[in-house]
Amino acid sequence: MSTGTGSAAGAANAEATESVADFRRRARTWIRANLRPLEHNEGAGVMRADTTDEEELAAVARERQIQRMLFDAGLAGICFPREYGGQGLSPEHQRAFNEEITGFEYPGRLQAPTFSPCAAVLLEFGTPEQKERHLPAIIKGEEIWMQFLSEPSSGSDVAGALTTAVREGDDWILNGSKIWTTGAWWSDWALCLARTNWDVPKHRGLTVFIMPLRQPGIDVQRIEMLNGNKEFCQEFITDVRVPDTDRIGDVDNGWTVGTRWMFHERMLHNSPFVTVPAGWSYGGVDATVLVDVARDAGRLDEPRVRDLIGEGRVLDLVRESLQGRIGRGVVSRRMPDQSAAIGRLFAGIASTRVTSMAYDIAGSAGAAWSAEDGAVAECGNDFLLRQTTCIGGGTTEMARNVISERVLGMPREPALDRDRAFRDVPRGGSGRS
Ligand SMILES: Cc1cc2nc3c(=O)[nH]c(=O)nc-3n(C[C@H](O)[C@H](O)[C@H](O)COP(=O)(O)OP(=O)(O)OC[C@H]3O[C@@H](n4cnc5c(N)ncnc54)[C@H](O)[C@@H]3O)c2cc1C
Repeated sequence: MSTGTGSAAGAANAEATESVADFRRRARTWIRANLRPLEHNEGAGVMRADTTDEEELAAVARERQIQRMLFDAGLAGICFPREYGGQGLSPEHQRAFNEEITGFEYPGRLQAPTFSPCAAVLLEFGTPEQKERHLPAIIKGEEIWMQFLSEPSSGSDVAGALTTAVREGDDWILNGSKIWTTGAWWSDWALCLARTNWDVPKHRGLTVFIMPLRQPGIDVQRIEMLNGNKEFCQEFITDVRVPDTDRIGDVDNGWTVGTRWMFHERMLHNSPFVTVPAGWSYGGVDATVLVDVARDAGRLDEPRVRDLIGEGRVLDLVRESLQGRIGRGVVSRRMPDQSAAIGRLFAGIASTRVTSMAYDIAGSAGAAWSAEDGAVAECGNDFLLRQTTCIGGGTTEMARNVISERVLGMPREPALDRDRAFRDVPRGGSGRS
């Protein structure tokens, strides 16, 4: 049964022994002594192809190492219970830590989806054995997790999953394909939504499993994007045997787990479980890059360019303030969990707008550039990829559906497959999750 982010964090809060001010001081001292300050705007841009595979693997190894250092210093898993290797502290401690780590290297590749949604889902729905086995390993940086939700035939319609799990004795045999997993080629474990019952409506025949990624039945293929980035992956799952002890939640009740799973995904900006710099935006796009682009394009003095920079800054401030308000509202139960979709919607639209403004400011260098062009280089590729921030984590269109139906209480979108056995639903029909 779900404990909810609020109650999980609340339970953790009760165990707190260190004040936020003391914790902040301890974190600040440790971070400055142990972590590298970031170069200005390091990591800017949309899923850029700026590392070789060797460099990517080295970066993953460094982030695992940082996560382990954080664990040894008593600074990892801040809101996870102590019994599972966390610090048992509160969301305020996590927020203070995020402020202190801003401007320094941090284990970004390990945060989403490993800490949230995956570890958050394990914490809510895992058995004590599953939590003991995986949460400490995650908090120490020993396990990196992927979420196996999207399939070639269903992304928005998550409940339309075709990946199938069939019971065989104490095991399940899984077959199917998952797609759009960022970094699966260097990851360890996956949280997987699969169909266990075709004779009931689609939401009632799903079950969640966990599985190691590196095993003979899982073929991970990388997908090259138009800018050369090859971090997206597709997995082909063939006769993968999963013990029933690696099932999360009840058989055919995967949608209960899935609903919270997607909540944690939409809550990324406010999650008490992730370590990200203050003001972090999904997709890594914020308005500071506009000043750099304007400077390197020689357009910093143009009134129109200054207007765009101002607009970008306003979007950043509104996003931060909105995310803070939603985070507090959901934790205090003044706002329904589904309000997380409001933050997800705004973050997607704002990031896309800022990326478009950077391209606008870059002028002709947005179409053709060289590495010497500084911040202007790659603005064109970023523009072509700008919509990823409106797609990853569930599309902004689906966020609008959630807001209208679940937050504002408007009538539900008609769906032809809601009351039919899933096996009778024509494939490619009007799915709606
Ligand atoms: C950066 C990034 C990271 C990602 N990471 C992961 C990951 O780790 N794991 C994972 O499983 N997936 C991941 N995804 C996949 C992502 O969740 C899906 O791409 C997304 O949910 C959309 O699904 P789809 O691509 O199948 O598009 P579709 O569902 O086919 O949608 C196509 C278009 O139709 C719209 N649409 C569909 N249904 C409706 C409706 N009912 N009402 C209104 N509009 C609708 C959509 O909004 C979209 O514009 C990632 C994607 C990106 C871009």
